[in-house]
Amino acid sequence: MKIGFIGLGNMGGPMALNLIKKGHTLTVFDVRKAQAEPHLSGGATWADNPAAAARNAEVVFTSLPGPKEIEHVATGEGGLIHGMAKGAIYADLSTGSPTLIRRIHDTFKEKGIPVLDTPVSGGTPGARNATLAVMVGGDEALYNKIKPVLDCIGDKVSYVGPIGAGAVAKLVHNMIAICTTMMLRGAMPRVIFKGGFDKASFALRLARKDLGLATELAREHNVPMPVANLVEQGMIEAIVKGWAEKDSSAAFMVQEERAGVKVRTEN
Ligand code: NAD
Repeated sequence: MKIGFIGLGNMGGPMALNLIKKGHTLTVFDVRKAQAEPHLSGGATWADNPAAAARNAEVVFTSLPGPKEIEHVATGEGGLIHGMAKGAIYADLSTGSPTLIRRIHDTFKEKGIPVLDTPVSGGTPGARNATLAVMVGGDEALYNKIKPVLDCIGDKVSYVGPIGAGAVAKLVHNMIAICTTMMLRGAMPRVIFKGGFDKASFALRLARKDLGLATELAREHNVPMPVANLVEQGMIEAIVKGWAEKDSSAAFMVQEERAGVKVRTEN
């Protein structure tokens, strides 16, 4: 298939490479051109903006930091809406806002362009090994059409409901994962015991964005989430300390500072 791919970061980079490996023809764009080097070496074509990357594509994927970038790439100057052909499918792999993707869906529908939200879970190892979970929201017939392409990036691809449902499932999933990681396990042996906060596979700024989207959604629907709001405040405090680009578990250092200890193993 001819695929446009925008956003070649920690997740988008390896996902796009897997699509190339599986024989798809990619046209790529990222604001940091250097990110595209492995893709261009693998036969992908460079485009100068999202509209150009989308022009001849049957499917367009985005993997972007958050709602601000998604909205800009979808509908801003040089955005997808100005390049995509009628009938081509736009699928957003980012973790974004359900409200925004529903709005984009309605705007694109007026131009005859169907939209799916297809957020992923499984981290950078999942992106590299094509073992991601993909939570798809939107028209089910469209999901069935695009499923063989999604199977190239994940081995747990599932339909979860109408447009925005993928984003809701992903935000709930991440909210639980982030809160339990902060409190109990996972990040402890992987990062905290080693003090390895500088090598971020999932940046604190992105985890804080995800949790912020989850607490915002909860407020929209009057769902009390005391623990998630508390954890979010800890992340905000860590970001104020200048740790946005560190690993998402860096917020743990806020508690270390409060307690006056560092939880590290000898080696
Ligand atoms: P990242 O910051 O590494 O990558 C984002 C990429 O988008 C960067 O290469 C950046 O240059 C590019 N970009 C930013 N603005 C752009 C624009 N206007 N036009 C084109 N390119 C632009 O982030 P990531 O870790 O790859 O995450 C991407 C998305 O996937 C996020 O929404 C994140 O929440 C989600 N996610 C991340 C992980 C993870 O473990 N890292 C896991 C699951 C989901």
